[in-house]
Order: sequence, then C-alpha cells, then structure tokens
Amino acid sequence: MSRIYEVFGSDAHGMTLALLTAASVADSIPAGASIALKPNLVVADDPARGATTHPGVLSGCIEYFQSHGFRDLSIIESSWVGEGTLSAMKVCGYDRISREYGVPFYDLKKDKTHRVETPLRPMEIACRALDADYLIDLPVLKGHCQTRMTCALKNLKGCIPDREKRRFHTEGLTQPIAALGAALKPSLVIVDSICGDLNFEEGGNPVHTNRMFLGTDPVQIDAYGCRLMGLDIRDVPYIQLAERYGAGSSEICEEDIVAINSPRDAAAYPPASGLVKSLTKSVRAGSACSACFAALVRGLYIAREAGIRTNAPISIGQDFRGKSIPGVGIGNCCRGAEHCCPGCPPTAADVESLLRTLA
Ligand code: SF4
Repeated sequence: MSRIYEVFGSDAHGMTLALLTAASVADSIPAGASIALKPNLVVADDPARGATTHPGVLSGCIEYFQSHGFRDLSIIESSWVGEGTLSAMKVCGYDRISREYGVPFYDLKKDKTHRVETPLRPMEIACRALDADYLIDLPVLKGHCQTRMTCALKNLKGCIPDREKRRFHTEGLTQPIAALGAALKPSLVIVDSICGDLNFEEGGNPVHTNRMFLGTDPVQIDAYGCRLMGLDIRDVPYIQLAERYGAGSSEICEEDIVAINSPRDAAAYPPASGLVKSLTKSVRAGSACSACFAALVRGLYIAREAGIRTNAPISIGQDFRGKSIPGVGIGNCCRGAEHCCPGCPPTAADVESLLRTLA
C-alpha cells in the first residue's frame, strides 16, 4: 500500500517541493535516471481557469530533481485532438520554465510510437513516455463531461497519438484508459488540485480547493480524487477496471494519508452539480471525442445562459459517420444531419451559434 502525501495552499511551486521532500522521492530513484514530467496541457488555457497543470508544479519538480543531481529531465505532453500542444505550452508558461531550467519540452503528437501489448489490445504509445526511467504524472483533478472525473489515469491519454485518442472514444473510454494505465504505470503522481474545474475538462469554472497530493499508485490516487469530489468509485468505472488490469490498488487506509501542513487554506469540494447530465439529457452520443463533446456541452451551457432553447434532437460522435440524422449533428462525423455544426472538433461558439439560429 502506498502513502498519499497532501499539502494545502496556493503556491504550486512551494507545495510541489514540500511534497517531494516529505516523500523523500529522490532516495528511490537510481542516479542518472531519465525523468519525464507529464503535465496536463489538454487545451491552450491559463491554469487559473481550471484545466491545465500550474507551471509551478513543473518548476517545483525540476528544482527538486536538479538539486538532487538529476540532469536527464524532460517535459512531455500532447494536447487533445484539435489543439496544438505548442500553443498550450506557451499559454501555460511552460516555454519560460523550459528555457529557465534548460529542460526540453517534447510535443508527443510528433513523437515516434511503440506498439505495446496491453490487457485490452496492442496500443500505440509515445516512445518518450515509454522510454523514461521514471515517468511522473502531473494531472489536474477535475470533472469530465464523459467520465465524470479525470486525474492520474486519464491524464496518461496525453501519451498517445491523436489516432489512438480517436480510437479510445470509439471504444467508450473506460477500457482503453484502464489498459493504458496498466501499460504505462507512472512511477509517481503529483496532483494539482488547486483550482480544477469540477464540471468541464477544458476549464472555465475553476473551484479553488487549494490542495495538492502525491502518491505512487495512479489507481489509489484516482480513488482518492473520487473521494474528494464526492463521487463513488463506481461512478468512474475505469478506476476499478485499471485495478483488475494490474495498474494499482484502489484501497486507501486513513493512516496512509499524510498531511504535511494544516488544511486551513483548503476549501471543501462542492457536491456534484449534475450540470453536464442536465445539459446533455437529449443528446445521443456514439464514440464522441472529448474535444467534440466538450464543445457541445459548453455550447449548450452558453446557449442556456443566454436563454436559448432548442427541442431538436442532438447527435454527436464517430458512430454517426455516413448516416442520415434527424435534427442537429455536431462535428464532421455528423455531416449527414439535418443541421450540422461542422468542424473536427467544432468550437463551443459554433455550437451556440447553430442553436441560436434554430431557436
Ligand atoms: S468530428 Fe468530433 S467526434 Fe468526429 S472525429 Fe472529429 S472530433 Fe471526433
């Protein structure tokens, strides 16, 4: 059973250093090991908006490992389908961190891949993630419009090429996310839960919970993330499936949670709002990519806030390719819809604008 260390506050750099120091992480890594840092840069948006890992988490990690003599460090990531990783890197301030500390940043969309056996099927995974001696997963704890929550296991999706990401969605996400976790098994997870958006993966409504936590088991860390967000672990089925696939254990013993400062700065995680469920109750989804589904949910949210209502059925996802669809279709896969919002993925503004014309 691994320990979970947690720290409260809002200084991502200092909190990361405190976690790594408390857990004596450097003692367990062989000298000369290559260390890859895998943050969450799903979209090009400021971490203060609740989607992406704060740059202070990276600088804290780099400072800690460099001060312990590790020189072979890298930052690796690929943003979601439709987003340029390098734009996200700049918007989030990682270019400055990379320059200042002399640590290279690699866009995994351009990386070579290896075909790796997983409990589900062979999978294409970026070489830089596979080849690192010590992979550190740096997710944001936040909501997700399809999987309810995203943290350690789902953040690993940034280690696969876009064609695999699309395939994950045709497989319903649960099984491939669990299988990827078993194949990659990060050595360490440090979670940024300073201000994640608890509804939308792409952020926009950050909730300041002022917490970070560290552990070595991504399944246990996700189980703990569920607990913090008030979710039952069964609400996020890939966690227990990852456990069955051998990616870790979801068991948490209270004595294994070590708080390294007072939680006076911590805020409670508000109860699940049910917002996504209520917005999408008339949506038919079949293998929709995250970026596409998120644009739809955000578009529906903006439309609802503007008092726009539509009774037309809405379809989205790769399962609708080449089909005639009544009502609204979202994305190029739904070109056969009566009213199509084109794009791969479209934007939330495109969705809202189409709904406006149909209202
Ligand atoms: S249109 Fe949407 S669901 Fe279809 S491939 Fe593009 S992003 Fe994925």
